[in-house]
Amino acid sequence: MNLKPIIAAGLVLAVPLGVASRAPQLSRFEFSEPHMGTIFRIVLYAPDEAAALDASAAAFGRITALDDTMSDYNPQSELMLLCGHAAGPPVVISRELFRVLEKSQEVAEKSSGAFDVTVGPLVQLWRRARRQHELPDPESLARALRLVGHEKLRLNSRARTAQLLKPGMQLDLGGIGKGYAADEALVVLKRHGIGCALIAAGGDIVAGSPPPSKAGWRISVASLETPEKSPTRFISLHDAAVSTSGDAEQHARIGGVRYSHIINPKTGAALTGRSSVSVIASDGTTADSLATAVSVLGRERGLDLIKSVPGASLLFVQDTGQGVNMVEWQFPPAPASRQLELEDSKSR
Ligand code: AMP
Ligand code: MG
Repeated sequence: MNLKPIIAAGLVLAVPLGVASRAPQLSRFEFSEPHMGTIFRIVLYAPDEAAALDASAAAFGRITALDDTMSDYNPQSELMLLCGHAAGPPVVISRELFRVLEKSQEVAEKSSGAFDVTVGPLVQLWRRARRQHELPDPESLARALRLVGHEKLRLNSRARTAQLLKPGMQLDLGGIGKGYAADEALVVLKRHGIGCALIAAGGDIVAGSPPPSKAGWRISVASLETPEKSPTRFISLHDAAVSTSGDAEQHARIGGVRYSHIINPKTGAALTGRSSVSVIASDGTTADSLATAVSVLGRERGLDLIKSVPGASLLFVQDTGQGVNMVEWQFPPAPASRQLELEDSKSR
């Protein structure tokens, strides 16, 4: 991520970056705040600074509220309180938590369980393993694995309840929450009359209508961050989302093997191959969850999944050890003048 070094916790940047040539009434503003373990960046075009500040503050407010709902670090979050009722009766939950869990279950079904938010107990074990540079012991892994499986999470849309069937189950929304929060931030901006905006939460990017006199937002995707051979792709995007899943930022080497923060819920193992999966979809929630799912499924089955989602496209970059391999499906071609243009954002 290309983060400005002056960004600090709680600090908001408001940077008017000049007046767009063919739409002189709109100026570009950029704001950043840390949420959900990453930096959320909002780039927007507004008639004046007051409107930009007002809209972005409301959008960040929404992101903060969602973080409070979905965080697995905050023991008081609605998600963690729900997990506290594991093995108990169904619990009535908020509309937004229900929506994210419902979408998670949908993607779990579609991906044959490759995407699975019940992966929490395994995530905890692997987090500790990465911190201590020591693999989880097989017994703990087997125990955690018994608590994982999307069929152990029951949702009832009429009563708006969720039920975790086994004691000790933990939900983890790390693979879908940022995309959802970015979607919701765009909804808030639109409610404030600002549709021309981009929200970037690490590798999860949601784009509204294009900047004035531009075809779309310029976004670079899918670098494996290997020195010379790394293929970097630039795309132009509007009214859609792109998410990249990979281990560029979160991984650890244990015994010479590189372990990712993405876990195969069927085996309990952290992914080890180096890959970068970028998915474009109509919204951030879909793109975020699909990118995580495809990372687990691998190239062939991942591609099948993407083909089954109308309007979705894929760029799968993999370092095989012998070189870099790419698979793509309906991924947009790079804009012609890509070398000369500045990036609006990076999804990687
Ligand atoms: P992402 O960066 O969007 O691919 O999400 C990775 C995060 O999602 C991890 O840090 C975990 O919190 C969580 N996660 C890991 N494996 C899975 C999985 N198979 N399904 C759903 N979430 C996962
Ligand atoms: Mg994801």
